Amino acid sequence: MKHQKWYNEDGWEKLGITSIASHERGMSLENYSFFMPTKVVHGEKALLAMGEQFAQYGKKCLLVTGRNSARLSGALDDAFRVLQAQGIDYRHFDEVENNPSLENVARGGEVAREYRPDFILAIGGGSPLDAAKAIATLATNDITPEGLYRNKFDHLPLPIVAIPTTAGTGSEVTPYSILTVPEAETKRSFTTPELFPKVAILDWRYTDRLPTHITRDTGVDALSHLVEGYLSRRATGISDTFAEQGIKIWGECIPALRKGEFSPVDRERLLVASALGGITISHTGTTLVHALGYSLTYYHDVPHGRANGVLMGEYLRFTEKHAPQRVKHVLDWLGLSDIDEFKDLINHLFGEVVTLDRGEMELYAGKAIKTNNAAYSQGDVTEGVLAQILADSLS
Ligand code: NAP
Ligand code: ZN
Repeated sequence: MKHQKWYNEDGWEKLGITSIASHERGMSLENYSFFMPTKVVHGEKALLAMGEQFAQYGKKCLLVTGRNSARLSGALDDAFRVLQAQGIDYRHFDEVENNPSLENVARGGEVAREYRPDFILAIGGGSPLDAAKAIATLATNDITPEGLYRNKFDHLPLPIVAIPTTAGTGSEVTPYSILTVPEAETKRSFTTPELFPKVAILDWRYTDRLPTHITRDTGVDALSHLVEGYLSRRATGISDTFAEQGIKIWGECIPALRKGEFSPVDRERLLVASALGGITISHTGTTLVHALGYSLTYYHDVPHGRANGVLMGEYLRFTEKHAPQRVKHVLDWLGLSDIDEFKDLINHLFGEVVTLDRGEMELYAGKAIKTNNAAYSQGDVTEGVLAQILADSLS
């Protein structure tokens, strides 16, 4: 059987008895559930082709986007065409900031409560997609933005149709919304199973105008989801399937990422790898890389994917001590010979990103150790370990 082959390749037990990671974690393969209710529609002009189905969500739509990218990508014009053709009334909230704050989504929530849409069409990178999830929840629940972190609500969020214009976060297929909380000087995610978008529309053409630096930043975010998901304590046989496929597809894009030139096929591969990463972390969560990366973004404005990327080499080195076979798989699937080659690739993509002093490292490690993400990592993750990963990565 196919599965048995995968699970036997390192001499581990067969599917149905214990998973690969069970040897490194002690978890039964039967002990998991898999829930991914988002309909994924992939292909050129998919939005135009499936527009008729929007009517099932209602007659009033709130479009949620950032300032420019939705228009620039071509997705906004396609959305207007579809909404007009279906006779769906719409309003456009185009004020989503990068790394949206609670205040920013509160403003979108006010617009939604006043307009009372039946559904939300979110177009953009992870920032507009995540903001849409918060706005969809604030629209139907009488709560403050801080109340989002209860993760339990009286009313269902509005249905969301999500169209990514970056290939990175996979937010179109996750139930997470990550928002900046200035009072806590960090980013925090809220989640409920109902936050999965109803539909995710993947069309590489909407990512084609991404400049090289954003393609690299977001592309490395997708990789971090795939790798962290695969190396997570919560990985299961099913999440591994998505992670493996995504890492292999991502590996095929390395030459394009290095060169900074992207063919339609590269764009499509990156978009698919990103969605596979989203499906993976929907089940595994992320790990210490994201936990530490949030501080690099919050305090130093390092783009999310780049913040993860510069920490991943040392994360792989740490994880190798606890899950050597898994780290070897990641490198093999990427077509890289060792962790040094991985670090060279990241260095080629980003150069020097930021340097930290000892006090900053301790502060960020102290914040990260309190997160669930850190706890999902393999190995004995302490504040000292986290500070050392920062030191080895960034000083
Ligand atoms: P982003 O913050 O959404 O966008 C970054 C920049 O790219 C913005 O200036 C945006 O412009 C521009 N842009 C987007 N699409 C473009 C296009 N097609 N052409 C040209 N420019 C374009 O970046 P992101 O990395 O996709 O999202 C990051 C956010 O997602 C972070 O807040 C992160 O924490 C979150 N995240 C969420 C999840 C999840 O599961 N929900 C997972 C990982 C990360 P505009 O401002 O005009 O839009
Ligand atoms: Zn991420």
